[in-house]
Formats: sequence, structure tokens, C-alpha cells
Amino acid sequence: MSTPHPAPLSAPHPAPLRADVAVVGLGPVGAALAIALAQAGVSVVGLDRADPRVFEDPGFDGRAYAVALTSQKLLAAIGVWRHLPAPPQAMVEIRTTDGDLARGPSPLFLHFDAAEVGGTPFGWMVEARHLRLALNARMAELAAEGALRLVAPAAITRVERTAAAATVERAGGPPIRAALIAACDGRDSPLRKQAGIAETGWDYGVDAIVGALAHELPHRGTAQERFLPGGVFALLPLAGNHSAYVWCERRSVAATLMGLSDTAYARELARRAGDHLGAITPLPGRWRYPLGATHVHRYTDTRLALVGDAAHRLHPLAGQALNLGWRDVASLAEAVVGRVRLGLDCADAETLAAYQRARRAENLAMIAFTDAMHRLFSNASPPLRLVRRLGLAAFNAVGPLRRGAMRAAMGERARLPALLAGRPL
Ligand SMILES: Cc1cc2nc3c(=O)[nH]c(=O)nc-3n(C[C@H](O)[C@H](O)[C@H](O)COP(=O)(O)OP(=O)(O)OC[C@H]3O[C@@H](n4cnc5c(N)ncnc54)[C@H](O)[C@@H]3O)c2cc1C
Repeated sequence: MSTPHPAPLSAPHPAPLRADVAVVGLGPVGAALAIALAQAGVSVVGLDRADPRVFEDPGFDGRAYAVALTSQKLLAAIGVWRHLPAPPQAMVEIRTTDGDLARGPSPLFLHFDAAEVGGTPFGWMVEARHLRLALNARMAELAAEGALRLVAPAAITRVERTAAAATVERAGGPPIRAALIAACDGRDSPLRKQAGIAETGWDYGVDAIVGALAHELPHRGTAQERFLPGGVFALLPLAGNHSAYVWCERRSVAATLMGLSDTAYARELARRAGDHLGAITPLPGRWRYPLGATHVHRYTDTRLALVGDAAHRLHPLAGQALNLGWRDVASLAEAVVGRVRLGLDCADAETLAAYQRARRAENLAMIAFTDAMHRLFSNASPPLRLVRRLGLAAFNAVGPLRRGAMRAAMGERARLPALLAGRPL
């Protein structure tokens, strides 16, 4: 007969899960990073405080994203694009006008036409829920292959980062020990706060109301952006005779609009949308997001990298915030994969400094650009209006300037990380 083991004096510490990278936050940025790394053979644990399936609920998020050409290439390279549940709408024209509701839009407009840059669309409109379904499907695929470990919902109780390793402790499960923590935990990033990383930011006092509408006439893949004194009003083409709208207004006005009856709301929406698409009918659902801009003073700390909205936030008038987040993903993933394949520490000071160098200037420039556009156009002063109309017309008249701006909107640059050029790592 065998002797029973004596009972332990205290419960044993559960063995930690070991990984190269712990991705905290599985929003569109964190999920893409976890997928890119796992697909390239890096060992990854992805954590989110929410179950990512809740984001698939149609009531969760009314946004539709303008996905730039290079972001589309990244999503294709990491196997996400093929999981979209419906074909996305290509955006082949962008028309920008400056106007007010009483006088109507100015006849001078900035006109970007993809035909001028080889006919490739500037990007695609993808509904947030469709993107979420595709990201979740790809994460599930990699998890089933054993290439990605997912811990969600996870309640993180403590994070410790030392020169040797980072540890993420959570309720009800073993801790995670990783070389690097990628903080993809959004605009209020608890990990950024814990690291004491300061940020500079401001609130626009403006909210964006988003939703979708059906219209009588085809949009022909054209995005319309109208600068009104209260803020920008954008109509963005979705599949069929449907468009998404982003309607920016001062916060008090936005609150009033959100409280309007469906009939009154439809009337106000039609005034902004104009008549170029014929009669419009709002589709059910309105969502409101406060707008602000922030930029962190540094992107990294010991064994920590901030990615996506955790590092930067900007006005949505150029539809670039998430695209910048994916550009962060492309740079960080390339650096990490390179180090791991050589058997080196993927969170050493040099790698983290290189990540910050690669991303800081571009993110900052886009924040400054969108901020300047917002301030310049949300101003009804007649002299300023005249100057900006002339400015838009002059800019529109100069072919090379216009084509340069179109290529920038597509995300094209001289030297791109592999994923943005569509090459898997
Ligand atoms: C009206 C509007 C329109 C926009 N349109 C566009 C557009 O057309 N194109 C574009 O490029 N961008 C657009 N954006 C910006 C885009 O929505 C954001 O940049 C994007 O959602 C940021 O993604 P993220 O993954 O960094 O953060 P989030 O989407 O905020 O995800 C953060 C994740 O972290 C998780 N999390 C948070 N805290 C913790 C924690 N403590 N532990 C674990 N998990 C945690 C959250 O649950 C969440 O899943 C728009 C924004 C707005 C407001």
C-alpha cells in the first residue's frame, strides 16, 4: 500500500504560461498584432478584458472603417481579409467641399480620383462588425492550430516588468511570463498609465455620430466629405446603395441630435447629406463618440511597447487612426519576428527604440495634419473661408500635389515594412 502524500501547506503556485509576447487588448490593432506574430511562429498569448465575440454584436459598434490600400495588404498577408463575411466596398473617388447649411456646398472642391494613380482604389470601406468577425475567425484558426493562445475575458490583477522578464497576473489562472508586453489596450490604456508614460492631448468638444443610410442613387464608390462649421460630415460608400456617415457636431448639438425622434433625425441628416444620392433613409442605430487627439511622450518602457490608440488618437476626418495602428503593428511585428528568429531578446532597448523611431514622426504628423484641418475648416469666419476655398482650389489644380496626397491616403511610402506591402513575415 502506498503512503499518501502529505497535504501541501499552501496551494502551489501555478506554472506560468511562457511566451515571447503578451498582447494585452484584442481590439482591431491588438488582434492584428497577435495574428501577425503567431502566424510568423512567435509564441504569443493574447488577452482581453472582454470576450472578443461580444464585439460581433450588431449593436456594439456602428462604425465603418476606411481601410487604406496598405492596410488591406496587411490584412490579406495575415489571413484576415479572406474571412470578411461580405465583399468590402472599394473607394475610388473622394470629393471634399466646404460649405454651410444655409448656402449649400462651395462649388470648389478637392477631387481625388483613383484613375489618376493607376486605378487602384484608395482603400475599402469595411464595417467594424465585419472586420471583427474576420479577426475573430483568424484568431480562432490560429488557436486551433496551437499557434496562438487566447485568454479572454481576462481580469489582469498585476503587471510586473523587470530587466529580465515581464509577468502578467490575472484572476483565476496562471500568470503569463513574456519577453515583451504589447499594450494594445486602447485610448485609456491602463498599461500606459501604470508605466507612468505621459501624453499630450486635447478634447475637441465635438462628438462624431455614426450610422448608415440607404439611398436612391448609386454612390459609384465615391466618398463625400463636407466641411461644415460644426464639423465634418462624411458619407462613405458601403456595398449596394448604402453609405456610412460620420457626422461631427459640437457636443451639445450632438446630444440634442441623439435625442431626436427618427423623423426629425432623418430630416437633419438629409440636410447634411445633400441630394446627390437622391432620397435617403437612415438605417436603424446611431452611435456617438467623443473626439480628441492624444500622443504619448514615449512609445516604450522596460519590456513594454504601446501600439495603436494606446499611443495615439486623432480626429477621424481623414479616416487614418486605425490605419496608423496597423502601421505600428507592421513595424513592431517585423522587428520582433526578426529578433525571435535569431534567438535574441525581442524587447531589448535597441529593438524598442527602433520601434519608436519608426512610428513616432508619422503618427505625430498625421495628428498635426488632422488637427490643422479640423481647426481650419470648423470656422465660419468669412475671410478664413475665402482663404481655405482658394487654398483647396489651388491644391486641386496642381496635379503632382494632388497625386502625392492620394498616394499618402493609400498609405504608400518609399520604404514599407513587409506586411504593408502584402508580404507575410
Ligand atoms: C467615429 C470614428 C470613426 C473612425 N473611423 C476610422 C476610419 O475610418 N479609419 C481608421 O483608420 N480609423 C477610424 N477610427 C479610429 C479607430 O476606431 C481606432 O483607431 C481603433 O478602434 C483603435 O483600435 P485599438 O485596437 O488600438 O483600440 P480599441 O479598439 O479601443 O481596443 C482596445 C482593446 O483593449 C481592451 N482592453 C482595454 N483595457 C484592457 C485591460 N485592462 N485588459 C485587457 N484588455 C483591455 C478592450 O477590451 C479592447 O478590446 C474612427 C474612430 C471614431 C471614433
